[in-house]
Amino acid sequence: MTVNTAADENAALELRENIDRAEERIRLACERAGRRREEVKLVAASKLNGSERIRLAHRLGLNVFGENRVQELCEKREQGAYEGCELHLIGHLQRNKARFVAGQVALIESADSLELLRELEKLCAKNGSTQDVLLEVNLLGEESKTGLAPAALPRLLEAAGDFSRVHIRGLMGIPPKSENTLENRRYFARMHQLFIDISEKKYDNVQMAELSMGMSADFEDAIAEGATLVRLGTALFGARDYGTLGCI
Ligand SMILES: *Cc1c(COP(=O)(O)O)cnc(C)c1O
Repeated sequence: MTVNTAADENAALELRENIDRAEERIRLACERAGRRREEVKLVAASKLNGSERIRLAHRLGLNVFGENRVQELCEKREQGAYEGCELHLIGHLQRNKARFVAGQVALIESADSLELLRELEKLCAKNGSTQDVLLEVNLLGEESKTGLAPAALPRLLEAAGDFSRVHIRGLMGIPPKSENTLENRRYFARMHQLFIDISEKKYDNVQMAELSMGMSADFEDAIAEGATLVRLGTALFGARDYGTLGCI
């Protein structure tokens, strides 16, 4: 993209400022938590941002992007939006759409059933690839949300030993919408404890390496409680305009 109008230039400037500000907040949150900056990876949640804007964000220093809808991911991937970047799927994946991402994204953060893992294993065997996944946990059993109940995890973690291509690399979670930061913080602490408990059980083919939690409104608390991946949309790209694209 050539930046050639004042509006483009302003948009680029604003994005650069947002990135710098988010980066600084992550740095400070790590410092306060006594963690190294390298322990936390920034995933830019780029839904509803077009390919040009993603390319621009990449030029301004972002190199990990997360999409939450498979179709949108495919369209923008086709346009070369993520070239030179690491791409994650962070939204719910239906089994019948698994073929569009299996072995083609660095991380599926939102795997939530044994059936899905089996499908991914089959697809990866077919196309000669492997797939890292996180298990999405629905910690509080919220009806409105996808994700695995904690009680469903052991069965799935035990089954992981049967897979040779799909590798479980950690957990992902989204706290309930809440204005109460203390509640979120408690949620993050419980996720971290679950993460530790699972890693101590030493399941075959299960590595608790990544804990994905924290979004624009609460990522500092998530970092304080051990997040290794934070997924930021609004803090980087500004408020999303769901109207113009007519999706979600
Ligand atoms: C959109 C999205 C985010 C980012 O949300 P913000 O509040 O805008 O930072 C994070 N995770 C998932 C799964 C998302 O869909």
